[in-house]
Amino acid sequence: MSEPILESDEVGKHCPKCDGEMMQGFILDHTYGAHLVASWIPGAPESSFWRGTKSGPAIPIGTLRCSSCGFLESYAQRRFAAH
Ligand SMILES: [Zn+2]
Repeated sequence: MSEPILESDEVGKHCPKCDGEMMQGFILDHTYGAHLVASWIPGAPESSFWRGTKSGPAIPIGTLRCSSCGFLESYAQRRFAAH
């Protein structure tokens, strides 16, 4: 997996707030001892989801953080899956 995570024409590398440098990261989802990448699920949450039955496509979320002001910018894209 050597492909660039971010491509300048898709994701800005500078903070829209202060023009600081944006660093890639992700929101950690702590769940019952496992560490997972938070995911975006389309639609409203259903009760079955909260009981642990995940349905539908889950898209991993990548989050950029401004190293200057801390602004967060998130993208739900397959490329952000753990690998
Ligand atoms: Zn900033």
